Amino acid sequence: MKIAILSRKASLYSTRRLVEAAKQRGHEARVIDTLRCYMNVATHRPEVHYRGEILEGFDAVIPRIGASITFYGAAVLRQFEIMGVYPVNESVAISRSRDKLRSLQLLSRKGIGLPVTGFAHSPDDVDDLIKMVGGAPVVIKLLEGTQGIGVVLAETQQAAESVIEAFMGLKANILVQEYIREAGGADIRCLVVGDKVVAAMKRQAKEGEFRSNLHRGGSASLIKISPEERSTAVRAAKVMGLNVAGVDILRSNHGSVVMEVNSSPGLEGIEQATGRDVAGIIIDFIEKNAKPNKTQTRGKG
Ligand code: ADP
Repeated sequence: MKIAILSRKASLYSTRRLVEAAKQRGHEARVIDTLRCYMNVATHRPEVHYRGEILEGFDAVIPRIGASITFYGAAVLRQFEIMGVYPVNESVAISRSRDKLRSLQLLSRKGIGLPVTGFAHSPDDVDDLIKMVGGAPVVIKLLEGTQGIGVVLAETQQAAESVIEAFMGLKANILVQEYIREAGGADIRCLVVGDKVVAAMKRQAKEGEFRSNLHRGGSASLIKISPEERSTAVRAAKVMGLNVAGVDILRSNHGSVVMEVNSSPGLEGIEQATGRDVAGIIIDFIEKNAKPNKTQTRGKG
């Protein structure tokens, strides 16, 4: 097979591993810089142009689209879908997953356990919003944040009110969520490929920090997850329409809840913590599933 990997840089760990795993299995893998793709969108013969060349003959595309380029990345991926190239994750599913509010609404609709979460527009409703999620302490999240940036813990009612009002004043969209203290600064990242959790790790926040993101100094270790957590993670990925996903779970005293579903999960932390060849499993999945025009939307989304 000829596989395109949409990625900003060939030297990134996840990108390198995917290339390596594809080559090991006898495939051709090419890293394509998403932001250097351009296209004529008003033609009968859809094409992607790249540094003066027309990209042709790809059987599958693996999108590794960072949050900062979601809009352009989704447009490029959609173009591949219109050309009939099989995407490991579809453009609509990626766009969907990048909006935390939309994701939670979709997950909730299908009965996935979530932290109690509220959303409001008017500063007049802040008081009731905080009550609605159970009162302080609460976690306040910028809708478009990643890697823990824009996730704030407000310990008191007063702190929560001022932070929420400040964000609202800046016209930033935010979620207000119950703080799951009993998680102890830890969460579980489940790497889902197809209908399986192929690796799971526990991420523990560093001392004095509640956010367990590895980018924020968190540390990763192997963890055994329960059958319920396993099926929750797989269902969450399915609801989002993602074949490859990083599903983040918090253990709360009302059960394990899904915090977030990531559509371009990093492979470095999880491969190192678990020793699993996640890149290889993704390529195996492509081998089994890639067929021309085999997408749910074919770029219609
Ligand atoms: P991002 O997408 O920026 O990583 P998250 O929503 O995943 O944002 O939050 C970052 C980290 O903060 C999580 O990995 C988790 O450790 C912690 N966290 C987030 N929400 C809660 C919560 N409601 N209760 C306890 N900890 C939380």
